Amino acid sequence: MKSEDFMKLDDTYAAHTYHPIEVVIERAEGAWVYDVDGNKYLDFLSAYSAVNQGHCHPRILAAAEAQMRRVTLTSRAFYNDQMGPFLKQLCELTGYEMAVPMNTGAEAVETALKIARKWGYQMKGVPDNQAEIIVCEGNFAGRTISIISFSSEEQYKEEFGPLTPGFKMVPYGDADALAEAITPNTVAFLVEPIQGEGGVNVPPAGYLKRAAEICAAHNVLFMADEIQTGLGRTGALLCSDHDGVRPDVVTLGKALSGGFYPVSAVLADRRVLGLFRPGDHGSTFGGNPLGSAVARAALDVLVDEGLVDRSREMGAYFMGRLRRIESDHIKEVRGKGLLIGVEMASLARPYCDELRDAGILCKDTHATVVRFAPPLVISKDEIDWAMERIEPILSNGHQ
Ligand SMILES: *Cc1c(COP(=O)(O)O)cnc(C)c1O
Repeated sequence: MKSEDFMKLDDTYAAHTYHPIEVVIERAEGAWVYDVDGNKYLDFLSAYSAVNQGHCHPRILAAAEAQMRRVTLTSRAFYNDQMGPFLKQLCELTGYEMAVPMNTGAEAVETALKIARKWGYQMKGVPDNQAEIIVCEGNFAGRTISIISFSSEEQYKEEFGPLTPGFKMVPYGDADALAEAITPNTVAFLVEPIQGEGGVNVPPAGYLKRAAEICAAHNVLFMADEIQTGLGRTGALLCSDHDGVRPDVVTLGKALSGGFYPVSAVLADRRVLGLFRPGDHGSTFGGNPLGSAVARAALDVLVDEGLVDRSREMGAYFMGRLRRIESDHIKEVRGKGLLIGVEMASLARPYCDELRDAGILCKDTHATVVRFAPPLVISKDEIDWAMERIEPILSNGHQ
């Protein structure tokens, strides 16, 4: 079968919740993916930053294979020999006392919202059912009913109501607006250190630090959604590290499993996560031995291969090269590490389609932004290979 045949199958049998770039991938390795017609591409999306470690990393593959032969799922009705070591490794790496293992990013965010409310009622004395959580315009945190309830994207919410109450929206990057929105019933502020889906929006310098201080002063939990920005993507282990901020609560997902298996987690100290009691929360697959073994290997790869530093170095090189493109089509190049957005003067999709034809896979985000977020294992030579193709498509003289 050729690409068209597979795309037709999707079109017929898959609900039309996506508008994919027209490429049918059959295998991948490192930063490269191969389609069913024999073409190769450099991957500049990394499955929305879920494959920071590179596609099909042999070390993660070996861990997954070995664990699949031992035991894959126990449920949390019993203990297993993988979850504890995984969470210890994750907590020691990030500097938190406890974690809740979940599967998808949206589940981690839902878990964070739940613990924030519980903390508010128990520790802050917020009256029953009155807890408020402040979020930012342009946020993205997943697709569950409660999460879309606080989205500023109309399409995410339209015809999916009734929506979950208890959220307040403030402009992203505006610490004064946050301070003004806080009431005695505010339990948490949920923020992405860089908004990925919102268009690779980098907030003003000092914003996260001030927001964290405002939260601390008002006894409000500062919750960073690092599902896309975390685990080296922006050139720091957590993007919050760039600003010297230690969030009260952190959500991780995506690259936590190096793209092999859905693994997410909520991190916080005992004073927060210690409030969960048996029966409060759960997940059949959360903390399962297969996911835990995969995540252990994914974290090992991140550390042992120095991918955080690599992201910072390659990101600086790549962003420098993108910024030197002379083009009236480009309004701005922004980002940190290997999370880079190129804001175009018109819709980004046609550029992404052309880039695909040239062997570069990326996806438009927020209409006018081309996001470049390759696996962190990408080499300087590979970036040079890509720039030879990207530059003519984004530069002047091209239409
Ligand atoms: C992708 C993403 C999520 C949701 O993760 P899923 O695994 O798709 O549910 C949440 N927050 C941010 C910042 C994300 O980028």
